[in-house]
Amino acid sequence: MNTIPIIENRIWNPECECMERRELEALQAKRLQEAVVRASRNPFYQEAFGRLKITPAQIHRLEDLQRLPLTTKEDLRDSYPLGFMGVPRNEIARYQGTSGTTGKPTWVAYTENDVENWSNLCARFLVSGGLKKEHTVQLSFGFGLFTGGFGLHFGIQKVGAAIIPISSGNSERQLTCMLDLSPEILICTPSYALKLMETIQAGDVDRSQLRLEHAYFGGEPWTESMRARIEEGLQIKCWNNYGLAEVQGPGISGECAYRNGMHIQEDHFIFEVIDPETLEPLPDGERGEIVVTPLCREGFPVIRYRTRDIGYIFNDGACPCGRTTRRMSRILGRTDDMLIIRGVNVFPSQIETALMRIDAVAPHYMIEVSRPEAMDTVTVHIEIKPELFSDSMREMHAIKKEIVATIMQITGLRMEVNLVSPKTLARFEGKAKRVIDHRNLVD
Ligand code: ADP
Ligand code: ZN
Repeated sequence: MNTIPIIENRIWNPECECMERRELEALQAKRLQEAVVRASRNPFYQEAFGRLKITPAQIHRLEDLQRLPLTTKEDLRDSYPLGFMGVPRNEIARYQGTSGTTGKPTWVAYTENDVENWSNLCARFLVSGGLKKEHTVQLSFGFGLFTGGFGLHFGIQKVGAAIIPISSGNSERQLTCMLDLSPEILICTPSYALKLMETIQAGDVDRSQLRLEHAYFGGEPWTESMRARIEEGLQIKCWNNYGLAEVQGPGISGECAYRNGMHIQEDHFIFEVIDPETLEPLPDGERGEIVVTPLCREGFPVIRYRTRDIGYIFNDGACPCGRTTRRMSRILGRTDDMLIIRGVNVFPSQIETALMRIDAVAPHYMIEVSRPEAMDTVTVHIEIKPELFSDSMREMHAIKKEIVATIMQITGLRMEVNLVSPKTLARFEGKAKRVIDHRNLVD
């Protein structure tokens, strides 16, 4: 566990973030019952609670959570567009949408209270990662239905820092903005940070012309090795935060000054980890699917929402920052982007970890899966750093060999490696799409 803070340790709401565990659990139990009351106003839970013979009065301890039904993305799609609302339409203050990474996007709704809570919860992780009132923030998350843009906007506003709502895209303009308005902080997806890093390098900008100090990344899986690459390339410190529209958007968890995993905002969300096959709850420390119950949400009160995100929760004693909440690991992948290759389960993040270990490799890659002659084949297309891309067959061959061996070591699988010229693979402004699975098209 890290015991040395990377930045000054600050807490936005010590009363809520550093609550005694017993007090926190009592609050969670009370709020859980209220959440069940709100949920029972919508037809989906009315039916489900009726079927399971549950009344809100019976749900008054944390252990009672297990009696409640799980909710899936399919359930949201089946009751499309607004079957999960917890209040009448005239009480809704805002609608947002999911990005639709895994299919048809769905809608989510917020009351005024929900927006207020969302703002404060985003302020919490922003402050824990170093945001101060006197900072200027370049907010390069897409604005619009995506919860990243507005969620972070509300959080920065709460803290009182200056916002540049530049949204994503137009990297040249992003660079001009960095030069003209000197933001210290950047917010975007990690893959967009890679693109911006390239624009800065191509723009022949001296690093001393930029005031950038640190960044908050979220919205998609990224690895610790990718963090190291971006921190080195942009000479900044990067913080991870997690969220999803179905249970709020950003502001569910984020890293503190000690970067010991992401603190879960447990006074507003109950986190569980389950085995995605058996649906049985797993103990802290075990990896599985993360299930989230928002406790205060009025507009869209989902219960035990299956995120499809794989990770684990831990609580190795109080974090030196003073927060008492449990923490979660990075997201290791999504159940729906896990590849099953010749019977072996692999997450794209494992391949990323392997690639980033090799110095010659640039942080741009694409994974292609096919099944010629009934045999799963993975080809990893990788850009080599421009300065190392060489005409010498022997050098390229040696790099390739090293990549194949490192992937093998981490995933246990032999994959084809295709080295491509610098700047030939796709770049992303929002969430990256780095896997092309041709097998889905054939079946
Ligand atoms: P969609 O599920 O349609 O992409 P969202 O825009 O709400 O909808 O995205 C939420 C998803 O983004 C999460 O379920 C998770 O898979 C991913 N995500 C968000 N933040 C992170 C993060 N810090 N690390 C890894 N994945 C993340
Ligand atoms: Zn901490």
